[in-house]
Amino acid sequence: RPSVVFDNVVFGYEKDRAILNGLSFEVPAGRNYAIVGPSGAGKSTLARLLFRFYDPQEGRILIDGQNIKDVTQASLRAAIGIVPQDSVLFNDTIGYNIGYGREDATQSDIEAAARGASLMGLIDRLPKRFDTEVGERGLKLSGGEKQRVAIARTLVKNPPILLLDEATSALDTRTEQEILATLHRVAEHRTSISIAHRLSTIADADRILVLSDGRLVESGRHGELLRHD
Ligand code: ADP
Ligand code: ADP
Repeated sequence: RPSVVFDNVVFGYEKDRAILNGLSFEVPAGRNYAIVGPSGAGKSTLARLLFRFYDPQEGRILIDGQNIKDVTQASLRAAIGIVPQDSVLFNDTIGYNIGYGREDATQSDIEAAARGASLMGLIDRLPKRFDTEVGERGLKLSGGEKQRVAIARTLVKNPPILLLDEATSALDTRTEQEILATLHRVAEHRTSISIAHRLSTIADADRILVLSDGRLVESGRHGELLRHD
């Protein structure tokens, strides 16, 4: 269970236009922190830096005390499981979608992954069987069902760090609450970062970091931040 540290990170996509302006924060091991802030604040950008799609111009990003520049791409990918807002599923079975992850996955790998997801209670609300085809030619899943499959796909790989990038933002509040309740149960004690813009999404977070113009402007617990709003 590693910690995640941003230490004075400066980054811009273009020269002379910094998007992150000396961003520093620490997510301690095993905690669930939320990152909120207005659109354009730099939330997705920091997620991209964590994956090394880009590297900071200044500062460092550490996972478990180690600069991610010194970590192989393969172990970085294994360390961080991401659930994006709009997960794309393959036109294949639900089981394949949960168990894919590896090109050389065998049928029994896929079944094991699907069983894992089932055990976690993530997809027990899906009325469909694992061998149900979904997508273009198969069954159309609702947004909530799709996100459950995507979350299961990420969690069965057992990543020590979980990054939810607006993972439930596109869903209605009730579906979101159901998914968050399940996540809370299965992802507890995992280091997790939830990027969100709805306050209801982050009520369970151990701490909320408020980002504005690429800087941390405030941090606290849910109730504390609401008080001086
Ligand atoms: P948030 O996720 O908080 O809405 P983003 O990280 O997406 O914010 O964007 C922060 C700023 O970076 C915005 O001004 C956005 O226009 C800019 N930006 C995002 N992606 C790119 C890109 N690929 N190239 C140039 N500018 C970008
Ligand atoms: P994996 O490689 O673990 O099987 P995916 O195929 O879903 O994961 O995604 C490939 C890579 O793309 C991920 O490891 C992650 O680094 C990156 N990625 C996917 N979606 C996003 C996103 N919304 N924001 C940032 N990175 C993403």
